[in-house]
Amino acid sequence: MKLLVVEDEKSTASYLRQGLTEHGFVVDVAADGADGAHLALTGNYDLVVLDLMLPGRSGWEIIRELRAHKDTPVLILSARDKLADRVTGLERGADDYLVKPFAFSELLARVRALLRRGKSVQPERLQVADLHIDIVRRRTERAGKAIDLTPKEFALLHLLMRHEGEALSRTLIAEQVWDMNFDSDTNVVDVAIRRLRTKVDDPFSRKLVHTIRGVGYVCEART
Ligand code: CA
Repeated sequence: MKLLVVEDEKSTASYLRQGLTEHGFVVDVAADGADGAHLALTGNYDLVVLDLMLPGRSGWEIIRELRAHKDTPVLILSARDKLADRVTGLERGADDYLVKPFAFSELLARVRALLRRGKSVQPERLQVADLHIDIVRRRTERAGKAIDLTPKEFALLHLLMRHEGEALSRTLIAEQVWDMNFDSDTNVVDVAIRRLRTKVDDPFSRKLVHTIRGVGYVCEART
């Protein structure tokens, strides 16, 4: 899942980036309103965490522009704690409003709630053959045995399993699992797939991650 954080305060932005990344999200950060509006409109995000008081363009303007084109969920994160601001935020199309200072656990719970509410309801568990992942608890198991994955490996496996049977290109994988400014050196994808395979496929006779020559990879149980 890819999130955009629009936040000009450096310490808050890096705190959010780190915390959300640790919980398996891919996070882009925009440090001003112009950059934020551009990314929110052109990028493919599952959710936007939006500050209101921003240099360049205000959070209010970003919501208005975004809502004219897209229904990406927006969580406003602002020091403006007046009831009128909260009401205005929701009326203008934000999906939730959290007042700073905030507890990371609450932000995370709200982000997850908004993502669940979204059109593409994400199941909490996925299964391909005897391989299972639990997205909330971030656990991976194959044939009943726990497998220890790094956050990137987990994100990669999650993406492949979410699209079971679909050939995913290296470019798409790179964009979804790494960040959007990822260059065309998709070798990183191959290296990560190799590492993932040593954990989820190599110890087992039935392989689930397959190479599609000239394209990328697919996760499926072939007979
Ligand atoms: Ca600000």
